[in-house]
Amino acid sequence: MNYREETLRHYAANPDVPVLILGGGVNGTALLRELALQGVNALLVDKADFVAGASSKSSRMIHGGLRYLENREFALVTESILERNRLLTNAAHYVAPLKTAIPLTSWFGGLLRSMLIFAGFKIRPGERGVVPVKFGLWFYDFVTRKNRKTPTHFITGKAEALRKMPAMRPDIVATATYWDAWITEAERLCIELIQDARCANAGSNALNYVRPRGLDGPAVVLEDQLTGQTVSVRPQVVVNAAGAWVDLANRDLGLDTDYMGPTKGSHLVVDNPELCRTLDGQMVYYQHADGRVCIVFPFMGKVIMGSTDIRIADPDTARCDEPEVQYMLDTLRGVLPNVEIRRDQIVHVFCGVRPLQASGSKVTAVVSRGHSIQTIEPDERRPFAVMSLVGGKWTTFRAMAEQSADAILARLAQPRKCRTDDMPIGGGHDCPVGDQQRKQFIARVAGQTGLSETRVADLLTRYGSRSETYARQAAAHAAAASGAADETPMKNLPDYSVGEIRRIAAEEYVQHLDDLVCRRSIIALLGRATEPALTELAAIAGAVLGWDSARQVAEVARALAELRMPS
Ligand SMILES: Cc1cc2nc3c(=O)[nH]c(=O)nc-3n(C[C@H](O)[C@H](O)[C@H](O)COP(=O)(O)OP(=O)(O)OC[C@H]3O[C@@H](n4cnc5c(N)ncnc54)[C@H](O)[C@@H]3O)c2cc1C
Repeated sequence: MNYREETLRHYAANPDVPVLILGGGVNGTALLRELALQGVNALLVDKADFVAGASSKSSRMIHGGLRYLENREFALVTESILERNRLLTNAAHYVAPLKTAIPLTSWFGGLLRSMLIFAGFKIRPGERGVVPVKFGLWFYDFVTRKNRKTPTHFITGKAEALRKMPAMRPDIVATATYWDAWITEAERLCIELIQDARCANAGSNALNYVRPRGLDGPAVVLEDQLTGQTVSVRPQVVVNAAGAWVDLANRDLGLDTDYMGPTKGSHLVVDNPELCRTLDGQMVYYQHADGRVCIVFPFMGKVIMGSTDIRIADPDTARCDEPEVQYMLDTLRGVLPNVEIRRDQIVHVFCGVRPLQASGSKVTAVVSRGHSIQTIEPDERRPFAVMSLVGGKWTTFRAMAEQSADAILARLAQPRKCRTDDMPIGGGHDCPVGDQQRKQFIARVAGQTGLSETRVADLLTRYGSRSETYARQAAAHAAAASGAADETPMKNLPDYSVGEIRRIAAEEYVQHLDDLVCRRSIIALLGRATEPALTELAAIAGAVLGWDSARQVAEVARALAELRMPS
């Protein structure tokens, strides 16, 4: 019996569970870990795959949020910068500093609008000049003055800025340069949070493709989306971490809430070597003529650019559409007018839904990115409280999980046993940081296992310090000509091996092929999920997951449909 069947059978026989978490995005998975570490048993269910929501569709910035300062969100920006700095250490395998340039076309521009927004007026921001931006960057540097993990900001005059980046729009007066951070394998970090939770506490469980289907007396009925079977659990607390779906998930519990005001945001991934060269390892953070702040940054040999911000009623309908593609190409032309992007260079698009709190504002950019916990107390029909996690950023997931866990611990009258501020996540444990340490790690592991240095470097980038365990399994396999890790390279993705894909399929809750290419790896994100690659992956994963040839074909078709480009 596999983990999924065992877990469902366990809850059918033992329906009492202290905490039921709905939603396996970064906030739900972080809460599962936080509770596990305090010795609290919890069951997390996601109606789709883990990380299928906003957490796999973000801009991948681990950032303070410069523009939120205009909205007087000093506490949010401070918390975000502190969490960013923690992630630079705790998730050093995936989170790294990102040098960022802001083109500025005036000295004092936007000052009046910034002041009006600061005073509480819900108006669209104007183009910000050197002075307001300098104020924000000074605040950034001030917050981290005692625990500096990134260099301080500086302003570069027009001539020097254009010398460094000749493709930049020529009407700038200066650029501001500062550092935030970015995350490579955001999806894998969430899977690692689940693995860490299960490792810390055998009573923690997580099931994807399971959703609530109403109440049965004091119990919540959960439906397995893969088989249609149901199981009822009796929680003491339900945490609704369903992101943009919070109100819809509450409806599944018979509750009518109106907490959310989601917006969709799309990104393009482009394969354009000239743009990559122009960016020279840094992000450009620029304002479009309509006031919207956009970003473009190099990502693992490709370039990610985005995003849009459009109100949406039903998060399940969110798709990147053709006008959004056009809009993003137009915004780039505004800042780097001489860089031409052909349509066939767009290798992937993705669209996510921001779980913003409900707001009357017509200007989505000024809606707070802060978070709150909304609690509905038990009543005579429903013996458990429902805590909804509303809003938030990727960057602040640990803080939000900590605050939610504290509220739950108070309810369960249990003490906090440990804190997670300084606790590494997954392959972030003992992960080599910086060029020197990385080189030493790669040379040592390659020397001890016989894998090439290039291969160990790839594994380190994907799995952090856990790459060493895999490399040792591969060495044992090579010695015995059998075992867990067959290092035969894939034909269509030669930097992945057959054993590596088998391991992911066997150990990381994969139910569908798109789970593997979209949320256990960045194969799809980098535009590498071609039909031949998907067919080969379906055969390798299918051998582990028991997919016959008809199922493999169906999985390839499902993945291709998920990855279809807008037209
Ligand atoms: C375009 C865009 C760009 C962004 N950029 C950044 C950025 O650069 N930096 C940053 O810090 N933040 C960014 N964010 C915000 C960040 O991505 C989100 O705040 C964060 O991912 C929210 O995580 P979550 O776990 O609350 O929600 P989600 O990741 O959306 O997870 C919710 C989960 O709940 C599941 N679910 C839904 N209904 C049910 C149900 N009834 N039962 C069980 N499960 C259910 C879904 O399948 C989903 O997996 C961005 C967001 C978007 C959309």
